[in-house]
This record gives sequence, C-alpha cells and structure tokens, in this order.
Amino acid sequence: MRFPLAISSRFCRLLLCCTLAACVSSVALPLRGQEAPDGPNARNDARFNALAWMQSSAEYRLMAEQTYRLAMVQLSVAVKDPAWCADEVQIREGGFEKKPPAVILDLDETVLDNSGFNARMIIDDALFTSESWNAWCNEEKATLIPGAMDFIRSADGLGVSLFFITNREDPVRKATIANLKALGIEASEKNVLTKNPDDGRGDDKVSRRAMVASSHRIVMLVGDSMSDLCSGMDEKDQARRNQTARDKTAMLGSRWIMMPNPVYGSWERALPAGNQAIDPRREAATGKQAAKSR
Ligand SMILES: [Mg+2]
Repeated sequence: MRFPLAISSRFCRLLLCCTLAACVSSVALPLRGQEAPDGPNARNDARFNALAWMQSSAEYRLMAEQTYRLAMVQLSVAVKDPAWCADEVQIREGGFEKKPPAVILDLDETVLDNSGFNARMIIDDALFTSESWNAWCNEEKATLIPGAMDFIRSADGLGVSLFFITNREDPVRKATIANLKALGIEASEKNVLTKNPDDGRGDDKVSRRAMVASSHRIVMLVGDSMSDLCSGMDEKDQARRNQTARDKTAMLGSRWIMMPNPVYGSWERALPAGNQAIDPRREAATGKQAAKSR
C-alpha cells in the first residue's frame, strides 16, 4: 500500500498535470468577466459556476484526490476480507467469498474529465444531445480526474481487477477504450462495459454489475451518480430520491465511493421547478409568492 506523498510536491505536480490537460482540451471555459469568443456570454449560463469549479478550482482537484486517497485505504482492507462486498445484489445472493476481488468504476466525471465538452456546450449555448456527446467521445480528448490514476495503479498493485461500467454506448466503445489507453489505463472490451440494452447491458447498470459479480467479488463501487452504486435512483421526486439515498448510506465511504459532480447528473431530473430548486422552504412559508415566482 502506497501512502500519499507530501502534499506540497504532489499538489504542484497535480497543478502542472491539470494545466497541461487544459492545454490539450479543445475548449476552456472563459474566465470571469470574459465573453466567450463569437458566442453568448457564457456566464449567463446556469452551468457556468459548476463547471468553472470543476475545471479551474484547486478545491475540486483536492476533493477528488482526497476521495481517491481515502478509497485506497479502504481498498487495502477490502482485499484481505473475504466477507467484504460492495454490491447489493451480490451481498443478498452470497457465494462471493472465494472469487477474486474487483473494483467497478464509472467513467465520466469519475475517471474521465469531460469538462472540455461541457465548456463547449456552454460556449455554444447548446444542450446535451446524444449526437454531440458521441462526437466528443470519438474525439478521445477526455482527460483524467485528479487522483484516479493513482487509485487505479494502487488497485492494480493489490491484485484487484478493474471494470469500467459506463453509460457511454457501444458505438463509442472503441474510442473510449482508445482514450483510456492513451491515458495509461489498461482497457479492452473485457473491462469496459458500455450501455446496450439490446445486449442485456441496461441503463441502470444493475445487469452489468451482475456480469462482473458472476466471476468476481465486487469490493468497491466508485461513481459520481448514485446509480453507479445501487439501484432505485431513477426516482424523479427529490424528497423520495434523497430519502432513498439516506436509507442507503451504510456502505458509503467504505464500499461505495461518491465523486463530486455539480455540472450534470440524474439529480437534475428530480429538482423542483423554478426557485424551489434552491429555496425549498419558500413554498411552505409563502406559498402564494413562491407559486407566482415560478
Ligand atoms: Mg459519471
């Protein structure tokens, strides 16, 4: 088990890596006060601050690295404990103790940093579409989330198999594997499980986790969406969704590792309308005013 190096030298190297990564990324978000060239003012876009935080702040980089460092500590314990399992279904069904250990990671905003794509959407004043997303994937320009590579190397050193379960789709599987390989990650069609419901690889990732569980003991799940960790997160009512999350915190921080992503996610679909999204108490206190403001 490798322990983190001194923060000062690591942080400097990390900043250098991120700077270099930003240089190769096709698009960088304009700085505060700057207008996007030949486009609308990106700062008027609701996604601006969230992406600026991910793309430019030291705090995000440290948070991501911190999360992966803590995950490494948990993983070193997990591999030695045959009763340690992270998958709800595998725990329920049992029989995993003698299987070799595996970690399942999501890809986007967990291992791969797509802020170049997200910046492009803001600068172009565009919404996400499958076509624009697949085009980005085929460019193979995603960079690494801070801490991900150290975690992957650490897992490899512990003899843990790595699987990547992503909702990228089969048509971009080849490009995704190439992108991962270019970043130094061992990837192939065996461990990169893209989405294809027609082939039994459904949107909710449950079926793909079952594929891994058939041969491995799943010791850790890492993702930026709750659906990367468990079932039941398709709920579109925010209160019920959050209650489901509260009910499932027992494995958080040990077997389940949650990465920060304020830019997008299934949480958006559960947001209340209008200002209710940022001030849920307003409706209870001044219901008529809140209704007018929507
Ligand atoms: Mg993701």
